[in-house]
Amino acid sequence: MCLFCKIASHEIPAEVLYEDEHVMAFKDIAPQAPVHFLVVPKKHIETIMDAEENDKELLGHLLFYGQKIAKEQGCEEKGARFVINCKTDGGQTVGHLHLHVLGKKQLYWPPG
Ligand code: AMP
Ligand code: ZN
Repeated sequence: MCLFCKIASHEIPAEVLYEDEHVMAFKDIAPQAPVHFLVVPKKHIETIMDAEENDKELLGHLLFYGQKIAKEQGCEEKGARFVINCKTDGGQTVGHLHLHVLGKKQLYWPPG
């Protein structure tokens, strides 16, 4: 089982912000901003490019709860950064799809 599958099944502890039968949101272990959490599908999908037609609803669910939790974390007024890294060029290090949400820090574009 991969790292985020283990977190999603409570085999490895995490600071969980939200959980339902489809997704889990938890704080990033190495936060890059005062608010930095990840939202993962409970289903193992390796990268965003491995999503299939029947995952469309799940992807919407993931993004919906990402923004909802961002607001609960106090990011509504000033916004946040929503990021999905994919494979090597995208800088993905954990092979289980995850949405990063970073807030409470002024970020810039383009990224490094
Ligand atoms: P990525 O580079 O997009 O694959 O991001 C992986 C993220 O997972 C990084 O920001 C890590 O800090 C984070 N991470 C790795 N292990 C854990 C863990 N056990 N709990 C929470 N976050 C983790
Ligand atoms: Zn997994």
